[in-house]
Amino acid sequence: MPWFAGYPREKIKWYPTIDLEKCVKCGMCMNCGQKVYRWTEEGPVVAQPYKCVVGCSTCATLCQGNAITFPDREKLRDLYRKEGIWAKVKKELLKEGKLNPEE
Ligand code: SF4
Ligand code: SF4
Repeated sequence: MPWFAGYPREKIKWYPTIDLEKCVKCGMCMNCGQKVYRWTEEGPVVAQPYKCVVGCSTCATLCQGNAITFPDREKLRDLYRKEGIWAKVKKELLKEGKLNPEE
């Protein structure tokens, strides 16, 4: 399914920020399957921010340096409400047969 059923990913400011002063170079962030991070001599950098899965914060949980932060989740909730995301996602899920029309 496309991002938010067609809502442009680049318009959603959801991606990690690294505080390299806190980073202990544990490498856990490199486990992100979306290839958001790239390793450099200084440590990890957020190379492809818009590949981050909106709402995910797994790397921050795994980060041993507590160096990764994300924007305020409340802003994300506002966006869901304002844009009527669920109505769009529901349509897509029904089309893909992932949702029972009775529900
Ligand atoms: S939040 Fe999830 S998708 Fe985004 S960079 Fe971290 S692990 Fe990857
Ligand atoms: S997970 Fe955190 S501490 Fe570990 S390398 Fe990545 S940013 Fe640094």
